[in-house]
Amino acid sequence: MYRKGKLYFRYGTMGSAKTALLLTTAYNFEERNMDYMCLKPVVDTRETSNVIRSRIGIERECRWIYSHTDLYELARELYRDKGRLVDWFLIDEAQFLTATQVDQLSRVVDDFGSNVICYGLRTDFQTHLFEGSRRLFEIADTIDEIKSTCNCGHKTIVNARIDNNGNFVEEGAQVEIGGDDRYVAVCRRCWRNKRIEQARRASLPLEFIEDI
Ligand SMILES: [Zn+2]
Repeated sequence: MYRKGKLYFRYGTMGSAKTALLLTTAYNFEERNMDYMCLKPVVDTRETSNVIRSRIGIERECRWIYSHTDLYELARELYRDKGRLVDWFLIDEAQFLTATQVDQLSRVVDDFGSNVICYGLRTDFQTHLFEGSRRLFEIADTIDEIKSTCNCGHKTIVNARIDNNGNFVEEGAQVEIGGDDRYVAVCRRCWRNKRIEQARRASLPLEFIEDI
């Protein structure tokens, strides 16, 4: 049987319901008795349960992807040992894949005819591409944006990292373990304006800040 798969990248900002979309897609495959597998890069090694969970309450079991996991080898083993040709691979948090792993996924598509849908962020809190996202933009067959809206009404672009006071953080590691609540998705204009405002406040003598 000739199978023709595709490598998809569906990207959006934090809070754009990427995971909910992935889980809805998984549910639809189940309804139609299609073979699929969920996978997710492990970022937080304290994570103990291998599930993909959405805030709307659905969850599905997933396989973990470690930085050394060979995803082509995984697909090959499933076929060789179990005769299983997975129709659809659904990958959450795909921004955390290495470039090599994205290349491996493209070979899974080309050699086995599987479809691979990668859901992930475009950029980090400093507006720079993640490694996995960069490679997906470079080689994916189909790229879709999952849009969401900033408080001001514009499309969200930036995943801003916030501190305990809700101020945008500009420095730090690209990946910080411990909670999506440290991020807020905003449009580019709001991101810029708030940083200008923060810089202005920081440059004022302390006694003036109370009056703002
Ligand atoms: Zn805005």
